[in-house]
Amino acid sequence: TEKCRVTVVGSGNWGSVAAKLIASNTLKLSSFHDEVRMWVFEEVLPSGEKLSEAINKNNENVKYLPGIKLGTNVVADPDLEHAGEFKLGEYAVQDANMLVFVTPHQFMEGICRRLVGMIREDAQAISLIKGMEVKMEGPCMISSLITEQLGINCCVLMGANIANEIAVEKFSEATVGYREIRDIAEKWVQLFSTPYFMVSAVQDVEGVELCGTLKNVVAIAAGIVDGLEMGNNTKAAIMRIGLREMKAFSKLLFSSVKDSTFFESCGVADLITTCLGGRNRKCAEAFARNGGKRSFDELEAEMLQGQKLQGVSTAKEVYEVLSHRGWLELFPLFTIVHEISIGRRPPSAIVEFSELKPKFS
Ligand code: NAD
Ligand code: 13P
Repeated sequence: TEKCRVTVVGSGNWGSVAAKLIASNTLKLSSFHDEVRMWVFEEVLPSGEKLSEAINKNNENVKYLPGIKLGTNVVADPDLEHAGEFKLGEYAVQDANMLVFVTPHQFMEGICRRLVGMIREDAQAISLIKGMEVKMEGPCMISSLITEQLGINCCVLMGANIANEIAVEKFSEATVGYREIRDIAEKWVQLFSTPYFMVSAVQDVEGVELCGTLKNVVAIAAGIVDGLEMGNNTKAAIMRIGLREMKAFSKLLFSSVKDSTFFESCGVADLITTCLGGRNRKCAEAFARNGGKRSFDELEAEMLQGQKLQGVSTAKEVYEVLSHRGWLELFPLFTIVHEISIGRRPPSAIVEFSELKPKFS
């Protein structure tokens, strides 16, 4: 039988670590080609060199994951569509049997548009992307966007996974969410699992993906609490209220979402690690310390050097859904995070308690 070719679409901080994890496994598993292609959104480095060339020369993503060797079987490729003549084995995306999507969520609509009609019919996809799109018809999770635009099945992988920690092989867990076919989920688990990265699978794509997406909004709230030096009890309260809103929102959108998903790595564990050590938390802390006077866009550019925040845009997307459906009052924390992030309310509004009273159990 044909060996599987794996391509990673995205090469940021987590994208690069994902390629490293996968590449360590394709070398060991005979059912996969050794080589792992990684699509790079091309940019020119201050040295004048192209990022994709620097990655291939150094076997390292010098901009988004400096100091970490990716494995010599990772090959960076800046060409997404490959408009030329088709030659099997040469093209990153067109040839792949297994596609791993891992870009900041705001770029996925454009990427999918470029890939329509370019994907193998039998390809399988997985999304590591934490975010969603909001369209006229309502919210659309990134895995659904991939399935709808590209006509392929899409699992998700989410978890308590701060990329820089996994890059240096510190132990963590992750959750694969799948729709129907357990065998495909098992294949993804096999492709990602290492002794320091323990992956399990649950049949709840929407629940897993919404956990990963919504915890970024709570992380903004946690960072604001840190910036205002409100202490650990306040932060724990914000995390608890946030988790409750995550669960209620997910279940209102998809009645199939399971309670047990919130106890997996993608749920409470990712919420904790992101509220303690994530980029959303870090930028929100700086935002609150500056009294909301410097915008998130400015802080992101200055503090993250090209890496991207997902929580601020997700708060806006969630807010659009809430206001459209008349649910704002049910989700005081999600609502306040958006209003603070656009400067409509001051950072101190994060604990305006009359508004945070539980409206559902
Ligand atoms: P990142 O935050 O490092 O973002 C930078 C990437 O965005 C670079 O590859 C850059 O080339 C790319 N980019 C910039 N402009 C672009 C454009 N116009 N079109 C396409 N790509 C463009 O990315 P990341 O850390 O790999 O995050 C990807 C996803 O994974 C996000 O949804 C994130 O929430 C999630 N995630 C991140 C981590 C983490 O610790 N970094 C952990 C788990 C999940
Ligand atoms: P940040 O984007 O806030 O760094 O969160 C990373 C993450 O998703 C950890 O699982």
